[in-house]
Amino acid sequence: MPGTTKVRSSREAVVLDERKASILEADGCAGPGIACEQASAAGAVSQRACVFCGARVVLNPITDAFHIIHGPIGCSSYTWDIRGSLTSGQDLYRHSFSTDLSETDVIFGGEKKLARAIDQTVEAHAPNVVFVYATCIAGVIGDDVGAVCKAAEERHGIRVIPVQAPGFSGHKAQGYRLAGDAIMKLIGTTPFPRDKARGINILGDFNLAGEMWIVKNYLAGLGIDVITGITGDSCCDELACAPQAKLNVVQCAGSMTALAKRMERDLGIPYIKVSFYGIEDTVSSLMRIAEALGEPETVERTRVFCEEQTRLLDPVVARYRPRLEGRRAAIYVGGGFKAISLIRQFREFGMDAVMVGTQTGRPEDYEVIRSLVSPGCVVLDDANPSELEKFMLERGADILVGGVKERPLAYKLGVAFCDHNHERKHPLAGFVGVRNFAEEINSSMNSPVWTYV
Ligand code: SF4
Repeated sequence: MPGTTKVRSSREAVVLDERKASILEADGCAGPGIACEQASAAGAVSQRACVFCGARVVLNPITDAFHIIHGPIGCSSYTWDIRGSLTSGQDLYRHSFSTDLSETDVIFGGEKKLARAIDQTVEAHAPNVVFVYATCIAGVIGDDVGAVCKAAEERHGIRVIPVQAPGFSGHKAQGYRLAGDAIMKLIGTTPFPRDKARGINILGDFNLAGEMWIVKNYLAGLGIDVITGITGDSCCDELACAPQAKLNVVQCAGSMTALAKRMERDLGIPYIKVSFYGIEDTVSSLMRIAEALGEPETVERTRVFCEEQTRLLDPVVARYRPRLEGRRAAIYVGGGFKAISLIRQFREFGMDAVMVGTQTGRPEDYEVIRSLVSPGCVVLDDANPSELEKFMLERGADILVGGVKERPLAYKLGVAFCDHNHERKHPLAGFVGVRNFAEEINSSMNSPVWTYV
């Protein structure tokens, strides 16, 4: 209904029938704010990933780390290949190991099996650090994973870090927090003298399709050092240098804000939130980084660089805008920061967001989303497939931007799709990402295949 923004949670939606949903919309639920950061409703199908997945996706890109999943083999399906983080160094992180807990282990306990798995891993691969993830079954049978890891550390003289991540113990955002705790164990809590601090850490860029390299190249050209990425294309030695940074820049706010706050509290490193998706956000992020570092020459150099890059993209916008203008976008992504950037990025091409949802958005993200979207846009937290389907059809979305779980849904509805998640193989960040994004949404939406559907 014109003049309204609908704000609903899936918790509400799973108990709402069609009539009640219509009432909410007719009421123009500008509402007190979206109910978010809640457990997914039991029995409802949620698109959210589990706690273990949240922890694994953050820690997996550390290139010289080793990951042992203490649980049934099925949990190990979260491997490198669904993450797509690239490495400039070792590729140990691409392996995925499991203790493959079975019925006998459930009865007698899996601690001895885990200890043997760690020993074998250290002998065969000599990793610098081993992360041990306790998944649902290990959590249910009560294996003391912390004690097994501590004993292994003493035996082998390397870091063996437990990540207590049973999938049922919350949702993906809880996994992010656990990953942040594990990273702090690598980084340590000894502050570096602030007057000697230099450069920045980039938090929440996982080097998907080399995006960390793109951003690092921009920053290198501007004379800004990157101490380490957390965790894209990082290694244990680099991570240990993180306390030396003058500033933390947080790209994926959903997964990394808690860690940034902890680093600010324990190490005295301030942080800013950034996004390198879309022209507007990339320019503003680079400028804010330069300004936060406080060197006037760097600020001026950044301003000139951004103007040049924006000018170079003028023909791209001029070419694609007439083909995209007036079309309607549905967005369903992991965190709020990406959803916000996507709303702005679609606007750069004259497109409007008609449905915006996230898996782990925070109240402040939804406030920004609500301030950006046009009247009539549906805003959702932790949606399930039938909700996505309902609102995409109702709002006449021409394209859905989402992840691997949403792709079949869009295609079944005859709606174009843009993959903006872990497994994509082409970069969408930075100025080059603007070009790739425009090409992808144009080729997907304007494909002749839709005339046959
Ligand atoms: S929900 Fe539990 S069993 Fe399923 S992948 Fe997550 S940790 Fe493993």
